[in-house]
Amino acid sequence: MSELAAMLAALRERFSAAAGAAKGERDLDEVRVAYLGRNGEVTTIRRGIGSLPVDERPSAGKQINDAVDAMEALLAQRRGALESSEVEAELAQRIDVTFPAIPASVGSIHPVRRVIEDACAYFERHGFAVVLGPEVEPDFYNFDALNIPSEHPAREGFDSFWIDDTLLLRPHTSPMQIRTMQLHRPPIAIVAPGKCYRRDAVDARHLFQFHQIEGLLVAEGIHFGHLKGMLTGLCRTLFGVHQRVRFRPSFFPFTEPSAEVDTTCPKCGGTGVCGMCGGSGWIELGGAGMVHPNVLRDVGYDPEVVTGWAFGFGAERIALSRYEVDDVRRFIDSDPDFLEQLA
Ligand SMILES: [Zn+2]
Repeated sequence: MSELAAMLAALRERFSAAAGAAKGERDLDEVRVAYLGRNGEVTTIRRGIGSLPVDERPSAGKQINDAVDAMEALLAQRRGALESSEVEAELAQRIDVTFPAIPASVGSIHPVRRVIEDACAYFERHGFAVVLGPEVEPDFYNFDALNIPSEHPAREGFDSFWIDDTLLLRPHTSPMQIRTMQLHRPPIAIVAPGKCYRRDAVDARHLFQFHQIEGLLVAEGIHFGHLKGMLTGLCRTLFGVHQRVRFRPSFFPFTEPSAEVDTTCPKCGGTGVCGMCGGSGWIELGGAGMVHPNVLRDVGYDPEVVTGWAFGFGAERIALSRYEVDDVRRFIDSDPDFLEQLA
């Protein structure tokens, strides 16, 4: 055996031992650099070719190349073996298929959604239909048809987001009352829940996007007592069986007479010894009243024959009291822990 062949054989033996001892990718890379790198041992041997007689050089070069090929093949083989043993070690450590699974986390129904669903279910039990409609509506449905002509100061009370001269984001769900009355002859009984928009500054009590629940009943012989009965029932469904309701005289262009509706504070039971109702014992729900004859006339109903009542409550306001939350912004924080608490 030539001197070169012996040197290469010894080198490969040491290389093989070093690669075999490597415990990971990094060790293996160090071995590669030490033997096959630019300044590695093979390079040193290759430089020696220059001192050989010219006719021996090609054969020497070939021997060195063969040795390099064999070493690289061994390196690749070791790398593959190390990778699969690393994966196996990881699997052995982490996966115990008999271990009980972590239960999948499922969301809860949002408190505002729950208020709307409970209110709608109550009205549906009493024969009302739930109607949904567009959030962008012409001013006709939002104002004119509700006895609020243009230039009427009440329009300013609904500080609205206008899309153009006649289209706006609805500030209430009342357009659906008008649309329903235009499409159907009385008697009608509907509840209209949905998103509404007003340019309110956001604070603990106000959002510029909120939800309303409106109700409308029009038929022969409907009077204020029916309204009071239905709203008392609604409050008992939402808050508890001992709820009472009170009506304070108010003004809305679309109802006459009109009232603000309060219910007994569910936290203190109406005694007023709590902060949630500000010590009054009552919480505000929204407005209600008997549908104005002009509104009925405009949709082709005869106010001498049919009468009706309507109300509009804020779903967030109800949810604040029902779940004893002190800041309406918490409802839109999307904080799963908070929502979970109320589930
Ligand atoms: Zn109270």
